Amino acid sequence: MAGLTSHAIRFRLRRAAATRKGLCPRCFKRPSRAPGHSYCKECHTDCRRRYRMYYLRDRNRKRRLGLCLKCDEVPDPGYTQCRIHLARSIRWYRAKRDRLRRAGLCVKCGKARDCALLHCLSCRTAFNQYSRMVRRRLREIVLSLYGHECRCCHVTDAEFLSIDHLRNDGYIERRRIDSISLLKRIVAMREIRGRYQLLCHNCNMAKALFGLCPHQARRPKARGPAPRVAPGRRPAAAS
Ligand SMILES: [Zn+2]
Ligand SMILES: [Zn+2]
Ligand SMILES: [Zn+2]
Ligand SMILES: [Zn+2]
Ligand SMILES: [Zn+2]
Repeated sequence: MAGLTSHAIRFRLRRAAATRKGLCPRCFKRPSRAPGHSYCKECHTDCRRRYRMYYLRDRNRKRRLGLCLKCDEVPDPGYTQCRIHLARSIRWYRAKRDRLRRAGLCVKCGKARDCALLHCLSCRTAFNQYSRMVRRRLREIVLSLYGHECRCCHVTDAEFLSIDHLRNDGYIERRRIDSISLLKRIVAMREIRGRYQLLCHNCNMAKALFGLCPHQARRPKARGPAPRVAPGRRPAAAS
């Protein structure tokens, strides 16, 4: 025990003695929680809680600084881990997934599956809830990026707004990526934001079906306050 102070040596001996007696070597009071484990139940819970706090704080720090979540390297663009750790994580998850699938268990939690799907019911429910939450948050961010109003009629209610593909090629994009990935891309990639705009569902549908929203057909080309239009009457086009 070279390099240790006499206090540290005494403390180590005290811990060893407690373990031999079947007592917790952290609080020296309560018995160990199970054979093969030295800490008592309370100390075990407390240590786990502290470690989890430390872990989350450290991860948040790395996320804030834009570093790999496993080390302090610069991550791959678009990812939260460096190349080495990303490859390692993918390998680990794939191996675990294959093992559980072969065993006929839920590939996420490892419990019994209730049907032919790869995930158990509680994992499916949790995942659906989680992705709904992610979608809601991403949508909020994207809406505010585009000014949170319909570009045509200036409706601002989030429920009415939708993301419009300027060149009406949304059907091609939807074949390639799902809606959450699209939202993520718009948030992450500033250069593609020009391809989209915010329209309410009415204006979007009118544009998609008839090529032009009636709001735009009525409105004079020159910039200025929109003319008040009596219902059923079309104003003369501005010259
Ligand atoms: Zn204890
Ligand atoms: Zn790393
Ligand atoms: Zn599961
Ligand atoms: Zn509109
Ligand atoms: Zn419109």
